[in-house]
Amino acid sequence: MADALVTEAIARFVVGQDPRDPDAIVRRAKVWLRRRQGTTWLVSQALSGVEMALWDAAGKLADRPAYELLGASGEAVPVYASGNFLGQGDPAVHVDHFRPLLDRGVRAVKVRIGARWEEDLATLSGVRAALGPATAIFVDGNEAFTPATALRIAERFAELGVGFFEEPCPRDDRAGLAGLVRSSKVPIAYGEHVFGVAGFRELADDALAGVWQPDAAVCGGMSELRRIAALARERGVTLSPHTAATPLALAANLHAASGAPTLSVLEYSGRLDVFCEAFRGGEAVGTDAVIDGAIRPPRGPGIGVEPLPDIAERYPYRVPPPIVSDPPLYQGSL
Ligand SMILES: [Mg+2]
Repeated sequence: MADALVTEAIARFVVGQDPRDPDAIVRRAKVWLRRRQGTTWLVSQALSGVEMALWDAAGKLADRPAYELLGASGEAVPVYASGNFLGQGDPAVHVDHFRPLLDRGVRAVKVRIGARWEEDLATLSGVRAALGPATAIFVDGNEAFTPATALRIAERFAELGVGFFEEPCPRDDRAGLAGLVRSSKVPIAYGEHVFGVAGFRELADDALAGVWQPDAAVCGGMSELRRIAALARERGVTLSPHTAATPLALAANLHAASGAPTLSVLEYSGRLDVFCEAFRGGEAVGTDAVIDGAIRPPRGPGIGVEPLPDIAERYPYRVPPPIVSDPPLYQGSL
């Protein structure tokens, strides 16, 4: 679907245009898309990909790294090691997963809490004991909980020194979520499914998050992430960008987030290394490029990381498996 959006809708604003002003191209495309396919969700991801390609082209034409063209600092960005569901193993399994990045000086990690959340809390307690107090721990709820359950979980998180609770519940229950944000002693984080600076302004106006997690490959692009970072400074909100997909998406986020005023840590997938060889320049964002827990944006030109021509053969699109049941929202008591 995303490829049809690019070739049939967005391409008409790109082909034949001067790529040295990506913002102007994206602005025109958005005006046209707004009353047709919209500018959020899949469209936002497709636009983000095109926008990243434009900054890459602009950087190559200027023989400069993208962060320079974006007005970002180019300094190293501290990262956190993104991990697995707590139910996937005992504490040692999680710590082993984080080990390569801990060995590179990373001092923050993230795990995921799921359906068997009471057992997960016991595992989390073991992870905390194994890592010690100097390593920050974040937990992702993947929108699985009601606000009432999320608050009970957040109370335990506060005891375990959890740094933020990511996407505890769906954002459609705005009143419930606002109550959770007010009551939770642990900051609540949202952003990987928030689109554009307008989406983050709504989050701020409704006080629905204390930590923002925009992703340059999702939120509308690298420029959009810069605008969101400026808003985060204005509103006094901590920025902890999301990234999950590829070395290219990570590199784009590094360029855009570098030096952002309220930046804390950028997500770094513990599984990224296996994909680096499918990207020219991928080693610039591999585990070995993490120094003292931080990673520099590639020096370019452009983004400095690009997919090899055979990437579609290496990673062909696969139709997702059939849906067997709708995901529930987990209730319960401790
Ligand atoms: Mg997440």
